Amino acid sequence: MRILISNDDGVTAPGLAALHAALADYAECAVIAPEQDKSGAGSSLTLDRPLHPQRLANGFISLNGTPTDCVHLGLNGLLEQTPDMVVSGINLGANLGDDVLYSGTVAAALEGRFLGGTSLAFSLLSRQPDNLPCAAYIARRLVEAQARLSLPARTVLNVNIPNLPLDHIRGIRLTRLGHRARAAAPTKVVNPRGKEGYWIAVAGDAEDGGPGTDFHAVMQGYVSITPLQLDRTFSDAFEPLQGWLEGVL
Ligand code: MN
Repeated sequence: MRILISNDDGVTAPGLAALHAALADYAECAVIAPEQDKSGAGSSLTLDRPLHPQRLANGFISLNGTPTDCVHLGLNGLLEQTPDMVVSGINLGANLGDDVLYSGTVAAALEGRFLGGTSLAFSLLSRQPDNLPCAAYIARRLVEAQARLSLPARTVLNVNIPNLPLDHIRGIRLTRLGHRARAAAPTKVVNPRGKEGYWIAVAGDAEDGGPGTDFHAVMQGYVSITPLQLDRTFSDAFEPLQGWLEGVL
C-alpha cells in the first residue's frame, strides 16, 4: 500500500505530522504539502507560474502551490511510484456542509479520485492541536479499514472528528452534507498607508444541521463520514428545465 499524504494547512502544520506519524508504519507514505497555509484554496490549480518541489529534512516535500497542485504532481510524475490512495489532513477546523466547496483538505482527497483506493479527508473540529492524537488514531483505523472497502470509482470520504479525547467519542455516523447559512459581511480594514481592504468573515452557522447531517453527528460527539462524489448534476431540476427549454428556441 502506497499513500500520498497532503493537507491545506501547510507542510509545517501539526495535523500533517500527526497524520504521517499515524500511517508511517502501516504503508509506504509520501508527503507533498503546500509551503504555506492554503486553507480555502478549494480545487485550484496554479497555472500562472512553475511549481518548485523542495525536499525538507524530515522527508516531506514542500511545494509553492495549492493542495490540488501537490496531489496532481504526486500522481503525475513527481513520485517514483503511483500511490494507491490519498489521505488529507488532519485539518485544524471543521469541513462540514458547504465547507467542502472551499476546503483544500477535501480538494486534496478529491484529486486522488483516479486511484484504486478510496481517498479520505480528515478534519478535527478545533483550531487547537490538543486532540490531534485522538484524530490521528481514528484516521489510522479508517485508513486500515479502507483496505476492505469497495466503493464505486471516484468516491471520496470526508471525515470530521469532534474535538474530544478518544474515550468521549461516541462512535461513527454516516452522514449527508448539511448546509451553512451565509457568512457575515467581510471586515473592512485600512492599512497604515490608507489603502482599504477586506477580511473574508468566518463561515456561517449550520442552517440545515438536523439529524442525518454531518453537523448533527459531530455535535452529538460522533465521527462524521460523508461519502462525496464529483457529479454535482441536480437531477430534480431536469423536469422543470425540460418544460422551460421548450419555449426557448
Ligand atoms: Mn485548513
